[in-house]
Amino acid sequence: MASGRCGCACREVSDLTKIWVDPARCQGHARCFMIAPETFYIDDEGYGHVVEGREGAFEEENTRKAIRNCPERAIKLIETEGV
Ligand code: SF4
Repeated sequence: MASGRCGCACREVSDLTKIWVDPARCQGHARCFMIAPETFYIDDEGYGHVVEGREGAFEEENTRKAIRNCPERAIKLIETEGV
């Protein structure tokens, strides 16, 4: 398994690290979509989600910027092993 630091050097990441939007925190500001529409979309009720197949894009500049700019800190990096 590869491991290292994410692009913003805030934590350890591995091949199992995925982006996840915590539905309990997301308040639907759509800032993630405005910054990184290739990685995030907004559902019919206005809440943010990760585009299918983009869960591992946390090292891309736009995605990192979106994560940093979520006002609710709802976008998280999680380990998916055993999930
Ligand atoms: S910026 Fe954060 S709070 Fe706003 S829609 Fe995206 S994940 Fe939800």
